[in-house]
Amino acid sequence: MMDLTLAHARVRSAVLDVMRPPPLLTVSGWADEYRRLSPESAAEPGRWRTDRAPYQKAIMDAVSDPTVREIVVMKSAQVGWTEILGNCVGYYIDRDASPILMIQPTLEMAETWSKDRLAPMIRDTPALRGKIQDARSRDSGNTLLHKTFPGGHVTIAGANSPSGLASRPIRIVLCDEVDRYPASAGTEGDPISLARKRSTTFWNRKLLMGSTPTVKGSSRIEAAFDASDQRYYMVPCPHCETFQRMRWDNVKWPQDEPRAAYYACPECGGVIEDRHKMFMLSQGRWEATKQSDGVAGFHINELYSPWVGFGDTAASFVDAKRSPETLQTWVNTALGETWVERGDVPTHDRVMQMRAEYCSREVPDGSVVLTAGIDVQKDRLVYVVKSWGYGMASWLVEFGQMWGETDKPDVWERLADVLGTDYGGHQIRLALVDSGFRADAVYAFCRGNPLALPSKGHESLTQPVRMSRVDVTVRGVQIKNGVKLWHVDSGYFKQLVHSRIDWPQDQPGAWHLPSDISEDYARQVVAESKITLPSGKVVWKRHDRENHALDCEAYAAAAARILGVDRMRAPRPAPEAVEVKEGDPVVVHHEQRRRRRGTFNTARW
Ligand SMILES: [Zn+2]
Repeated sequence: MMDLTLAHARVRSAVLDVMRPPPLLTVSGWADEYRRLSPESAAEPGRWRTDRAPYQKAIMDAVSDPTVREIVVMKSAQVGWTEILGNCVGYYIDRDASPILMIQPTLEMAETWSKDRLAPMIRDTPALRGKIQDARSRDSGNTLLHKTFPGGHVTIAGANSPSGLASRPIRIVLCDEVDRYPASAGTEGDPISLARKRSTTFWNRKLLMGSTPTVKGSSRIEAAFDASDQRYYMVPCPHCETFQRMRWDNVKWPQDEPRAAYYACPECGGVIEDRHKMFMLSQGRWEATKQSDGVAGFHINELYSPWVGFGDTAASFVDAKRSPETLQTWVNTALGETWVERGDVPTHDRVMQMRAEYCSREVPDGSVVLTAGIDVQKDRLVYVVKSWGYGMASWLVEFGQMWGETDKPDVWERLADVLGTDYGGHQIRLALVDSGFRADAVYAFCRGNPLALPSKGHESLTQPVRMSRVDVTVRGVQIKNGVKLWHVDSGYFKQLVHSRIDWPQDQPGAWHLPSDISEDYARQVVAESKITLPSGKVVWKRHDRENHALDCEAYAAAAARILGVDRMRAPRPAPEAVEVKEGDPVVVHHEQRRRRRGTFNTARW
């Protein structure tokens, strides 16, 4: 049976071989044969040569490879990207006539590309010259942003302008500098998704996107590269022949002489100079580091560029590192890497070092009040229970999660049990539940649990916590004792949590973790940091996928704030010895209240 199947497969394969059309010219083959570089856009005008920068070959040939559906190029400047795009357009005009859409970040850049790149290429490349009529000739029907040729057209659009992105069907979509695209084309949604939709009718559709990356976490090209097969160009050391990825760490230079920089082979220590580069590039090969279904991803940086020396890169680095802004630009444009600004977030190792001598679910001495913070996911609730003392000192009492669909009652019943837990004589006084994801379920839970408040995190607010009413009648009248929503400045409380991690343990306000806390918790609590985007906007960025512990901590801290923990003063050593002075009523007030009720009163919330 097995043999028959095998035989059948062989026959099938042989038949397919016969039926397969003769190999088509590849994009690089076409470019070497027909493409001419224009004097106004190329340092070396005239005949195109792929072997001038051999890493370009596989990128272009992936475009003409029928098994590849999408090509993603995350790149530095100066690697020849613009001409690669030109070659793809030329190939499809001349050899595989198709409707082509070129998307530039803006309409203005679309016009510039048409004038400064496309027009000279058509003018100087004889194979293309006869195929597209000059827009200035009367009957051409061609405009700056739309050019027809036998069997197809090139439409050039701006990612900021939905009109160009959503009309005719397109087979070849080319997306240039995608990290500069707006999040949405007008009100129409993501520009790349719009373009992708237009090509769905073609079984042989193709999408090529490339960009210099920007900020980690918000970079389109990095997200696309992450989803690809992630190829890197491996080149042999001219001394020991070890194949390697060229990395910035290995560029060295004598003190104060960046112009004299060289590349040090990490394997043999051999000195690699600019003159070795051509040999290395010509022997290089792309290696995929991940499995992917039809998405070819290429990463290339300036160290590979035949047009840039190691000394140029080192000198531009020395210039750029004077300020974070210029350093970011350098990292993006020279290394082709995203900029990670972790702010001053501690490492998870640092968090693990903070484990103290108590166990989860124990409430150590010094605790005044317990709060909880709950993060609501689709399929689970994640929570922390925190114990608070004077000066916002805190102890993590419990970190846990309960699995179960949060639109069903089961997990909520279990949460009610957690909130009712007796922690060695202490009970949770207030819990904030994130309502950002499943508001209705959270409101319903909070209506039945007086110590739970629905809350919503915001990037920033004018005050750390603010209340609004949710339950109003149809006439807009507030319902007495109805649900109140607490708005929380998440950034403020995440910053508070992070600032306490490095707090000296013996000082008031210290942050404590139980001895048995998991590494998972430690990673999650520092999974985000405050970063400044190129626009100057400050945002909290996630570095790890899971950040729920940090969200929970922020809500638990906000709950402590609502209870007034931050306004408490340290108790006097012996209350009977207290001499009540004028101007010192707060201490007495808190002390008295604490003694009278034995705990905090949360009834007013
Ligand atoms: Zn070597």
